[in-house]
Amino acid sequence: MDTASDLVVDAEPPRYRCTACGNLTRFEVTVSRRTRSFHHYTVGGELSIEDTVVLDEEYESVVCRWCGTAASVVQIPSVPLDGETLGAESGV
Ligand SMILES: [Zn+2]
Repeated sequence: MDTASDLVVDAEPPRYRCTACGNLTRFEVTVSRRTRSFHHYTVGGELSIEDTVVLDEEYESVVCRWCGTAASVVQIPSVPLDGETLGAESGV
C-alpha cells in the first residue's frame, strides 16, 4: 500500500467555452474534490499543507459568468500555454 500513487496532483483543469456568448475566460465552476495531504505543523501551530493528492474530483457545474447558465457551456481540449504568458508575472 506504500507504492507511489498513480494519481496525478497537478492535472490540468479543463477549459470551457460558452457557445452562446463566446466567453472563454469567466466561469463559475463548482467542484467536489476529495483530497489527502500532509499537514505539517510547526511547534507554534503554523500549518503548511504538502503533498496534496486528489483522490476524487467531480465537476458539478460550470456556469457562464455572463449568461448565468450552464446550458451553453462546452468543454474544450486544453491547449499548451504557449501564447498565454501574460498575466504570469503581472506583479502589482
Ligand atoms: Zn455565455
